[in-house]
Amino acid sequence: MFDVEKIRKDFPILEETVYGKPLVYLDNGATSQRPRQVVEKMNEYYFRYNANVHRGVHYLSNRCTDANEEARETVRQFIGAASEREVIFTRGTTESINLVAYSFGEAFIGAGDEIVVTEMEHHANIVPWQMLCKRKGAVLKVIPFHDNGELATEQLDELLTERVKLVGVAYVSNVLGTVNPVRDIIRRAHAVGAKVLVDGAQAVQHLPIDVQELDCDFFVFSGHKLYGPTGVGVLYGKEALLEQMPPWQGGGEMIKTVRFEKTTYNELPFKFEAGTPDFIGVVGLGEAIRYVDSIGLENIAAYEHDLLHYAMERMREVPGMRFFGEAGDKSSVISFALGDIHHSDTGVLLDKLGIAVRTGQLCAEPTMQHYGVTGMVRASLGMYNTRNEIDALHDGLMKVTEMFGIR
Ligand code: PMP
Repeated sequence: MFDVEKIRKDFPILEETVYGKPLVYLDNGATSQRPRQVVEKMNEYYFRYNANVHRGVHYLSNRCTDANEEARETVRQFIGAASEREVIFTRGTTESINLVAYSFGEAFIGAGDEIVVTEMEHHANIVPWQMLCKRKGAVLKVIPFHDNGELATEQLDELLTERVKLVGVAYVSNVLGTVNPVRDIIRRAHAVGAKVLVDGAQAVQHLPIDVQELDCDFFVFSGHKLYGPTGVGVLYGKEALLEQMPPWQGGGEMIKTVRFEKTTYNELPFKFEAGTPDFIGVVGLGEAIRYVDSIGLENIAAYEHDLLHYAMERMREVPGMRFFGEAGDKSSVISFALGDIHHSDTGVLLDKLGIAVRTGQLCAEPTMQHYGVTGMVRASLGMYNTRNEIDALHDGLMKVTEMFGIR
């Protein structure tokens, strides 16, 4: 059984007050909180086992190395990858996408080739592709979305031509909450020979993932939105594809032999892990996944689905409420505006009530442009949020509209 009160006890920060009010943390899309188990595991490694990995002959180094490789196996199982060679640790989603844009780009992108992303992408899944297109003389194309937040998949046939080499798509939009039909996109992209990168930054904490079943070529996510530490994330790639891609950064760890005449590279996954990794962060990420697994993503998804619908119903009662993103398949993210109140005014007033939401462009300016707004307010849910907290948000929003005379 999913017991939200029991889960909340694992997150000490949820007992904090701000300005004398109980904290209501609804900015999980930006970063989630970490449970005691994750922080304690990292402390244990800092205090008892800290030593650089894959280098030493001594006990501590071996212990830390083993813990890192165990975490890799935990990630492999969590996303259903075929092999640990396909799981590369990075600093996060942004670095994972940049790695692919550089390395896949070096191997496979030439002048006139096309890369396709969606209009609702986070900047991290736009700008690295623009930079690649600039380097290689390739062309970036965009799948638009409808006002309700659903992708215009009816345009896919026209966009997906033989020139397309890669499609980048968010599984879940960080602004609209839309759960995109990635299976369909992957199938159709593969039919024209294109590879697909799925940005799972807003998906892994809400939906069970199986990269083999999805058949995506790359899958990326960050630890810090998955109840794990900052500074660590994952790039999954199909082994055969990663084998054909050159290293991105050079340095220690990614080499087999170094001579001034010629250097040879390490095997997967280390070929893509230059330098000292955030090895304690990796241990923390493994622990976060164990924590999530102990609750079960199916259970988390069901609970959050119910909470999302409750939240949207309650928020609909607020005068002047305008939702951005009402896709049929939606997850845990509610972006909105209240009449013509500026998003930062709403955010600041909610803050004074102890309610943490995100405001602004949400790292997705093209999505803002779509709706002709300069920013939005976003409430994003985590597994520890409750109906009481949604009621607090509702009451806070009612106060804001009262203050601004919206009825
Ligand atoms: N993609 C999406 C959909 C995101 O929500 C985020 C984080 N807001 C990112 C990419 C970037 O993640 P990070 O900053 O952890 O690299």
